[in-house]
Amino acid sequence: MKIVILDGYTENPGDLSWQGFEALGDVQVYDRTPADQIVARIGDAQAVIVNKVPITAQTMDACPSIRYIGVLATGYNVIDVAAAKQRGIVVTNIPTYGTAAVAQMAFALLLEVCHHVAHHSDAVHEGRWEHNDDWCFWDYPLIELAGKTMGIIGFGRIGQNVGQIAQAFGMKVLAYDTYQNPALVSETCRYAQLDEIFAASDVISLHCPLFDSTLGIINKDAIAKMKDGVIILNNSRGPLIVEQDLADALNAGKVYAAGLDVVSTEPIKGDNPLLKAKNCLITPHISWAPKESRQRLMDIAVANLKAFADGAPVNVVNK
Ligand code: NAD
Repeated sequence: MKIVILDGYTENPGDLSWQGFEALGDVQVYDRTPADQIVARIGDAQAVIVNKVPITAQTMDACPSIRYIGVLATGYNVIDVAAAKQRGIVVTNIPTYGTAAVAQMAFALLLEVCHHVAHHSDAVHEGRWEHNDDWCFWDYPLIELAGKTMGIIGFGRIGQNVGQIAQAFGMKVLAYDTYQNPALVSETCRYAQLDEIFAASDVISLHCPLFDSTLGIINKDAIAKMKDGVIILNNSRGPLIVEQDLADALNAGKVYAAGLDVVSTEPIKGDNPLLKAKNCLITPHISWAPKESRQRLMDIAVANLKAFADGAPVNVVNK
């Protein structure tokens, strides 16, 4: 089987191995593939592996050997899955691989807001402690989480993991989800409607998927219902937040701080209003990327292709 990997760099910048795929066929790996080279690079390959490179109906028609498209991610919106189904092409995804890493990153953002570790360490290295009048100093309000309330919007795998960590920090959890599991309710964790979450939470963390119903769920009306000084975290999907509304609220001090790993357009655009907003931490979509998570993703992607080659495909998204 001829296997082509069109944008392998973010999954494996050099610290993992493609050997699992190589055991299944003749593999060609490209770090990135511009739109005008997709068809030529696929050529007569039967298996196409992508992360964010779009595979359209036209590409499928131009490359009739394609039998399998494996997406190196959970979201598979880059593939025209209906067109693939019409042409008998199996499309698979990786349903879950990085729950712990994404939950951990939500707390990395939150703890940075609470303590500004990087800033204070830089200040010490710049000599400010050495020359300080007192035995300690800090440049930001330092925040203790115990006793505070975290509102979690989207209480699935990642949201629940974030909730467990929050409770371990002594926080109370209010969760909003369209599906409720009574087994998750405890003295320190219960479900609530969005308005109560907005009104009662000290920290609001987004863990729902991007759907029409969640697009712009954090907007100026929602922010107006929140506590003054709320902290907002988003490492789910950028368009969950109306960015100009959040930037305005940060600059006005209504929202104390935001920790964001995703934005509306990625890579971020230079005119994104959040880049200049007060107390806005932004990381470049790294929640999924610890090596352990990427290795898990690689293992599942290889297992998906092997199952397809064995005639019993798994994790098929276009049955
Ligand atoms: P999941 O499917 O386990 O959980 C999503 C939850 O959201 C479900 O419980 C679902 O019922 C709920 N939901 C659906 N519609 C909703 C709505 N309108 N309002 C509130 N809740 C709603 O998914 P997961 O594994 O927990 O992942 C959550 C999200 O995290 C993904 O959709 C993805 O956007 C994001 N993610 C980001 C990264 C990253 O690197 N930044 C990595 C992985 C996942």
